[in-house]
Amino acid sequence: MELPETERHFAAMHDFSAKLRQPSAIPVVQKYLQWQREVRAAAVEGVTAPAMPSVGPLSINLDLTTACNYACDHCIDWDALNLAVRHDDVRLREAILNLVDRGLQSVILLGGGEPTLYPGFGSMVRFLKEQELQVAVVTNGSNNEKIAEVAECFTEGDWVRLSLDSGSDEIFQAMHHPKGRGIDLDQICASAQGIKRRNPAVQLGYSFVITWLGSEREAGAGVIENLEEMESATLRAKQYGFDYISFKPFLTRAEEGAEVMDPDQASEDREHLLQRLHAGLKLAKSHEEEFFRVVESINLRVFLDGTWKDYTAQPRTCHMQALRQVLSPLGVFNCPAHRGVEKGRVGKLDAWALPSEDDPTTTGSKVDFLPAAIHGTTKLLANFNATAECREVTCLYNPVNRFLEDLVVAEAPLEDLLEGGPDCGDCFL
Ligand code: SF4
Repeated sequence: MELPETERHFAAMHDFSAKLRQPSAIPVVQKYLQWQREVRAAAVEGVTAPAMPSVGPLSINLDLTTACNYACDHCIDWDALNLAVRHDDVRLREAILNLVDRGLQSVILLGGGEPTLYPGFGSMVRFLKEQELQVAVVTNGSNNEKIAEVAECFTEGDWVRLSLDSGSDEIFQAMHHPKGRGIDLDQICASAQGIKRRNPAVQLGYSFVITWLGSEREAGAGVIENLEEMESATLRAKQYGFDYISFKPFLTRAEEGAEVMDPDQASEDREHLLQRLHAGLKLAKSHEEEFFRVVESINLRVFLDGTWKDYTAQPRTCHMQALRQVLSPLGVFNCPAHRGVEKGRVGKLDAWALPSEDDPTTTGSKVDFLPAAIHGTTKLLANFNATAECREVTCLYNPVNRFLEDLVVAEAPLEDLLEGGPDCGDCFL
């Protein structure tokens, strides 16, 4: 049976193994897997492992700044906001060029801060598009005109998603506490239309993180409930010409820093909460149309069907930490779930830039001029035990990590096992 349009879109967005089998990704994935096979063989033979070949992440989350002009009560990056750390724009561009040489294909501008507050936001978007990268922006919506100014650079497959999480201005203000005058939900939605007007190819999304009473960002920091606004937010998104609304459940940060899902953190019993979530989603979906989608994130889907625990049993090696990383003013990290957390650190903020002659990378007694991130990634692949470190994370990359691990341990040549798939026009990981 053929899947309906929304389901097909959803399945394609989250089928990471299909994305890795696209013609543009296959050479990087194959090189990476071959190297992993050789590293494991070297360990068995007790010889020195080969160095990481010329590959790098296919996709990055690029946090341009930690600055934010909101104070959202449900913000998972609360402790990493408005810090006195920033990128050196020249070094950041060097890092990106180096990553492009290693196979980088897509960049999502988001993070603990608001990307449009980066002084060189427009220039950075243009630079990324000049490298023929797919680009996406996750924004709080307060500076939509800055995005509209560069909208003409975006191409098919690029997207802009606004984190709005509400259907009324009352809940919007209570959840987000925007700093500055005149920021309200009507004004944000109206200015978002300017992006679409400038370039209809941009997919415009309305993001809604569902919150409920009893959930806490951290111990003692409760969040405002917005669950009952799922339908009004959907109607609003449709009215203002968004292409879709996407729903995700609220995540919290565990003590050791990872982003986790906790359905028992609620002031009602789990069954009742699930009933309300199902009802909200059903109402939202009743407003779907050919040109307006209601997207249930995979997180929400596993939350609702009760299978979320299955995604917490990770294999020991996380291969995705080599194929998708986070570049932030706090440093380079192996995964958005460990953004800003020391155990997930790949290196300093410019770790993917080539070291200068005065500042070579030191590996043991060896001095070289490779980006420090190569050593950081190699070290994490060997030592970061995802089974233990991500045991509480509902990791959507769990199936693709298992797929990649199977390819590493299989005996047949990779060319025979890693069949290329069609180009799905989506390189975001
Ligand atoms: S196993 Fe999942 S949560 Fe853990 S580092 Fe890898 S992608 Fe991130």
